[in-house]
Amino acid sequence: METGQQVAIVTGASRGIGAAVAQRLAGDGYAVIVNYAGSTTEAAQVVAAIEEKGGRAAAVQADVADPAAVRRLFDAAIAQFGHVDVLVNNAGILPSALPQLGDTDDATFDRLFAVNVKGTFNALREAATRLRHGGRIVNFSTSVIGLALPGYAIYAATKAAVETMTNILAKELRGKEITVNAIAPGPTATDLFLTGKTDEQVERLAKMAPLERLGRPEDIAEAVAFLVRPGGWVNGQTLRANGGIV
Ligand code: NDP
Repeated sequence: METGQQVAIVTGASRGIGAAVAQRLAGDGYAVIVNYAGSTTEAAQVVAAIEEKGGRAAAVQADVADPAAVRRLFDAAIAQFGHVDVLVNNAGILPSALPQLGDTDDATFDRLFAVNVKGTFNALREAATRLRHGGRIVNFSTSVIGLALPGYAIYAATKAAVETMTNILAKELRGKEITVNAIAPGPTATDLFLTGKTDEQVERLAKMAPLERLGRPEDIAEAVAFLVRPGGWVNGQTLRANGGIV
C-alpha cells in the first residue's frame, strides 16, 4: 500500500455493522469517512466515538443509490483526508416485510436493486479509478444466498449480483495491487435483522448456527479488518461470516 495514513470510506456507517466497521478500522489506524443516508445524529455519534479514542473521522451524507452523490462522497473523502485506500461497500437494505416472490411489488423490487446493486456499483465505479495503488475493497453479500430462505428471493438476488461484481472487478483491477472481496454475514444483531421479527423468530434464527447465537456487528468488523490488511492474498472471494449457519 501507499505510505501515509490509510483512508477508508465505509458506506452506511451510521448504524449497525457499518458503524462497527468504521470504529474498528479507526482503531486499526485508518482515517474513516462515515457515510450515511439520513441518520445525521447517529453518524455524528460514530465520528465522536472515533475522535474520543484519538482517531480521525468525518461524516458525509450520500444516498449510495445516487451516482452524483457517490461521486461527491469520494470528492469529500479526498478533500478531507487527501486520498482513498479502502472502500467498505456496506450500505444495504432489507424490507421488514418479506413477502414471497409472487407477492412482491415493483416498488420493493426496484428499491432493493437501487440501493443494494446500483449503490454498490456506484461506489465500485468510483473506487476502480480513485483508490490508491494497493487499495482494498470489501462488498457486502449475505449468507441467505446459501440458506435460500423463503421470503428472501429478491434480497438474495441483489447480493448475488454483488458477489458477481466482486470477483469480476478483482480481475479487472489487475496491475493495481487492489483486492476486491465480499463478506456474507449470517443473522447479525442490527436494526436490519431485528426489525419486524418476533422474539421467537429471532431466537430460532439465532440457534440455527452451531455457535448458537446471532452475529455481533463487531464479529463482522473483525472479518472486514482481516480482508483490508496490507499484503492480503485473498482476492475475488466471498467470505461467509456466520457462525457456521451454512
Ligand atoms: P442497518 O439497517 O443496521 O444499517 C444500515 C446502514 O446503511 C445505515 O447506516 C444506513 O444509514 C445505511 N444506508 C441504508 N441505505 C442507504 C443508502 N441508500 N445510502 C447510504 N447509506 C444507506 O443494516 P446492517 O448493519 O444490518 O447491514 C449492513 C450490511 O450487511 C447490508 O448490506 C446488509 O444487507 C448486510 N447484511 C446484514 C445482515 C444482518 O443480519 N444484519 C446479514 C447479511 C448481510 P441511515 O441510518 O442514514 O439510513
